Amino acid sequence: MRGVVFGDPNLLKIDEVPEPQLEKATDVILRVTTASICGSDLHIKHGMMPWIRPGTVIGHEFVGVIEQVGSEVYSFKKGDRVVASATFQCGQCFYCRKGNIGLCERGGVYGGGEMFGNVSGGQAEYVRIPFADNSLEKIPDGLEDEDVIFVGDILSTGFHGAVMGGFEPGDSVAVFGSGPVGLCAQVCARLMGADPVIGVDIIDSRLKIAQTFGSISINAERENAVEKIRNLTHGRGVDVAIEAAGSGDTFLGSIEAVRRGGTVSILGLFPQSIAFPIQKLCFYTIKMSLGLADLSHMAKLIKLIQTGRINLRPLITHTFSLSQALEGYEVFENKKDICLKVLLKP
Ligand code: NAD
Ligand code: ZN
Ligand code: ZN
Repeated sequence: MRGVVFGDPNLLKIDEVPEPQLEKATDVILRVTTASICGSDLHIKHGMMPWIRPGTVIGHEFVGVIEQVGSEVYSFKKGDRVVASATFQCGQCFYCRKGNIGLCERGGVYGGGEMFGNVSGGQAEYVRIPFADNSLEKIPDGLEDEDVIFVGDILSTGFHGAVMGGFEPGDSVAVFGSGPVGLCAQVCARLMGADPVIGVDIIDSRLKIAQTFGSISINAERENAVEKIRNLTHGRGVDVAIEAAGSGDTFLGSIEAVRRGGTVSILGLFPQSIAFPIQKLCFYTIKMSLGLADLSHMAKLIKLIQTGRINLRPLITHTFSLSQALEGYEVFENKKDICLKVLLKP
């Protein structure tokens, strides 16, 4: 079968790789019908995850149809349409039983290499799903791949960012970064009653989409984002700032933009260490949460999509066949043609 394979730093290729087989009774084999490219796939491409060996199939955002079912899988059958979470998890270890499935002792990330469970990714024709009962959600009739493709990663991440903000309806929220994750955070914050929701970015096309989701937008290249946020919030700053870019500027901006006693919810993953203004956080009693997203809310998010309360189709700007995936990567990485998210169709 074909898959998107990590070759060397700065090099991905479409290669012939062996079809995955059932390895454990709790596995299923999925025929991938749609995958998407995530920002962290670019980190892999550029060799920033050195534990991922050349030859690894990548991709952790995908949906598909179940082809083969292990003898100890109870929730799914051949032919079911499902969406995968970006991680797989056993459901039984200390962390899974505490509800922290992202910390599963036997889990991992598809295409994440040795450090993350060593299971091939989903930018391929087929993928093996370990612990299938705990790692998939059924797609309800009437929903297409395009409706649910983001549930297992960026939507869950945005939802997590909003939940960790801990705000109440009517509280103000600013999201630093209006890329796919930041837009999902804005959609979720608004759905949870935040008002206003303020989206910050430096790319106008992304801010336009933020506006269609109901956000007030700020272009941080043309305006002083912190000053404008203060003007919108009686000079105090927002109740909650969500960082969704992973840069030093947006990290500091989100701390500057939050009011005393407010919360900063960090979603970005940072390529290197950054300065940490601990005095400001202490003196102004600013709370902070960070870490990988909690992917345990997928079923709830699918229901919200089904009832029309979440619609992320505007994020899909490009679709390529799997054989054209490298072109898709090129468009995605260089944000060509106002690219936000690229889908791949095996
Ligand atoms: P992205 O790069 O598409 O989006 C980041 C956005 O921030 C871009 O639109 C960019 O223009 C904007 N930006 C850059 N500098 C800015 C500045 N100074 N001020 C305002 N905006 C600025 O990435 P994404 O896919 O949306 O992901 C966002 C972050 O979330 C990344 O760091 C990613 O690794 C991380 N992430 C975290 C988790 C998790 O579990 N915590 C999961 C998925 C992604
Ligand atoms: Zn991802
Ligand atoms: Zn576990």
